[in-house]
Amino acid sequence: MRGVWCDGAAVRFRGDLDEPRPAAGEVVLGVRLAGICDTDLQLARGYMGYRGVLGHEFVGELPGGQRVTAEINNPCGACPTCAAGRPGHCPGRSVLGILGHPGAMAERVAVPARNLHPIPDAIADEAAVFVEPLAAAFRMVEQVEPRPGMALAVLGDGKLGMLCAWAARESGATVHLVGKHPAKLALAGTGVATHLLADAERLGRPFDAVVDATGSPSGFPAALRLVRPCGTVVLKTTISARYEVDLAPIVIDEIRVVGSRCGPFPRAIAALASGVVDVRPLVGAEFPLDRAEDAFRAAGTPGSRKILLRP
Ligand SMILES: [Zn+2]
Ligand SMILES: [Zn+2]
Repeated sequence: MRGVWCDGAAVRFRGDLDEPRPAAGEVVLGVRLAGICDTDLQLARGYMGYRGVLGHEFVGELPGGQRVTAEINNPCGACPTCAAGRPGHCPGRSVLGILGHPGAMAERVAVPARNLHPIPDAIADEAAVFVEPLAAAFRMVEQVEPRPGMALAVLGDGKLGMLCAWAARESGATVHLVGKHPAKLALAGTGVATHLLADAERLGRPFDAVVDATGSPSGFPAALRLVRPCGTVVLKTTISARYEVDLAPIVIDEIRVVGSRCGPFPRAIAALASGVVDVRPLVGAEFPLDRAEDAFRAAGTPGSRKILLRP
């Protein structure tokens, strides 16, 4: 089988991969389209020590042709964490294309049938690959509960930052997107106030909650400079780099720091189907699988839109 292999130091196209071997409860999907995200770029640099087929943002099809995507966490279903209703944190879990489970940048992928979500006709393949990252953005919304009267800032004008801003826009909170690139900030559209970081830092810490979606170790300290005392900082950045950050402001200003990872797929699918979130401005170039190395180079170019792989 053809697919994209990560050896922890680089990615390469391989034409000699084993066919997926579905575990009990798994089905094999034909992959229609997969997206490259910053996590994949981090994995390629050694984050998590992953070795295998990459890919966790994808749209595929069942043998009958029904288009689907799949949640990425594969919990054991039997441990106390699963029983407590936190399957995404199951200590025995595998994660599609990230931890102990081959991913979707290949012709075919095996996923647990219970993880499947049908993709409505209203959502094109190019938008369906955003279900996973948009669900992650809605996880932040679940945690922060933005509401009218609240000022929420999202730090980072990349794709995840944009998705977080759009996911929060319907809440009635004032949503601000803070970045470093005017051209990228301009994609935010209506209902999102945009600021360059240097300008935001002159506003005097007006934000009730600040989401770090920068993908950079500079994001967390910047969030601490922007959030009001007793406010909330949400960390959405996952990077292999280590932080060096002064924690004293968290104590002195009683900041609540919240980690945020995977989120509700149904909410993301509904937002895409209804058009509440329109991801078309974020769609970038498409590459065939055998040009994976070019695709990863393009995805690693600062300011790139979502790079897609078509098996
Ligand atoms: Zn991702
Ligand atoms: Zn479990």
